[in-house]
Amino acid sequence: MKQHYDLIIVGGGMVGASLACALVPAAEALGLDIAIVEPVPLRRDGLSYQPSYDARATALAYGSRSAYERMGIWQTLTQHITPIGEIHVSDRGHFGASRLSAAQQQVPALGYVIENHWLGQVLLNRLQAPECGRIDYLCPAEVAEVIPGDGQMSVTISRDGCTSALTCELVVMADGGRSELRQRLGIGYRYSAYEQHALIANVSPDRPHRGIAYERFTDQGPMALLPLQEQDGQHRCALVWTLSDDDTQTLMDMDDAGFLAQLQQRFGYRAGRFVQVGERHAYPLQLVLAEEQVRAGLVVLGNAAHALHPIAGQGYNLALRGVVSLADQLIDARRQGRSLGDLAVLQAYHERMRSDQQRTIGFSDGTMKLFTSRNPLLTLGRNLGLQALDVCPTAKTLFARSAMGLDTPAPVLQQWEGRS
Ligand SMILES: Cc1cc2nc3c(=O)[nH]c(=O)nc-3n(C[C@H](O)[C@H](O)[C@H](O)COP(=O)(O)OP(=O)(O)OC[C@H]3O[C@@H](n4cnc5c(N)ncnc54)[C@H](O)[C@@H]3O)c2cc1C
Repeated sequence: MKQHYDLIIVGGGMVGASLACALVPAAEALGLDIAIVEPVPLRRDGLSYQPSYDARATALAYGSRSAYERMGIWQTLTQHITPIGEIHVSDRGHFGASRLSAAQQQVPALGYVIENHWLGQVLLNRLQAPECGRIDYLCPAEVAEVIPGDGQMSVTISRDGCTSALTCELVVMADGGRSELRQRLGIGYRYSAYEQHALIANVSPDRPHRGIAYERFTDQGPMALLPLQEQDGQHRCALVWTLSDDDTQTLMDMDDAGFLAQLQQRFGYRAGRFVQVGERHAYPLQLVLAEEQVRAGLVVLGNAAHALHPIAGQGYNLALRGVVSLADQLIDARRQGRSLGDLAVLQAYHERMRSDQQRTIGFSDGTMKLFTSRNPLLTLGRNLGLQALDVCPTAKTLFARSAMGLDTPAPVLQQWEGRS
């Protein structure tokens, strides 16, 4: 461990580790010293209950693929990734339904489903590679304090019961939606609890999923069923079921047979008969938006900056666009001989992300309200909307492009040419 770094990333979750991976070539070529600090180690088998790398699966928008291609890890990720060939959207007990297909949209896939623990394993393996000599992965270790100073930041790390004082030009806080540092630094945030949980579990239908992802709206809450790779000959899908707090408890308490019966009754048989369910987990859902995302020497990133409702599968995809945009800005700053913590540099990054954040948060929040409402007028409106979507190719293309993360130009990570 060095005493001084150019950049310290707080949190080695999906967002913090992706930022470090995005900076690998620049770290070597531009002599950037980076530390990434994470308290929870990833187990050797890749399974971990570290928040980022737990039992969940993430739907990566088609637009997120290019970020991982540029980081040089896409090929490895594809070893355990499931392309989404079709998306079926339907409203239980109502007439509205719509189908989107990759073939119609002339893309190889509408998106990709990846299990978080596999993404974590690939990201952290990348950071252990020989060309990452300038990136120190400090784990298990925790950032206890961040103190802004004159032109540099002081960071207290606690590790093995000892504390060390480090300095750096820039601290990136990627320490998740419950960031304690955010509070300690007096960074205000907007918080609204949805009074809902996401119940997640892997379920096995009795037939192959054929790459179809389902979004089904029921009177008990919306459900997403995402296609996963087969395991030990079992067909598998990842279920994300948004439920009221009370319904969550009831469904968590049920035995597997009772749970599968409830799921089948709510979801119907369009994906087949559900024959097995894995471990269930429940996540409380809230909208969190940091009121300040940059200060001199400081950036708040990922869930620490914005935690969204998972209904539209947009939270991580938005965060990854932020990762790419920030990495790009920092590389330019370094090339121009500016400090990474320069406020103007960080404000330019935030300005690039602002409208994307507002639009994505508005889309997720609006979709959640529309599809959890029992108001008869809203129910009729959404069913007419789904029917219209199904018969109108232009509306369908617009919706598909938004779901694929292609509706606004995605920030592009610079292809490294070794220039300094
Ligand atoms: C049920 C559910 C389903 C979802 N599905 C999707 C989806 O399909 N598509 C999508 O785009 N998004 C999805 N999301 C959103 C996605 O999971 C988040 O955007 C993502 O997990 C954010 O990662 P993060 O690294 O910012 O935060 P976290 O995953 O919370 O990681 C924060 C890290 O910081 C570490 N940390 C905390 N404090 C400190 C400290 N003091 N010092 C050092 N380290 C610290 C923690 O140990 C942790 O590893 C979903 C979310 C939920 C709840």
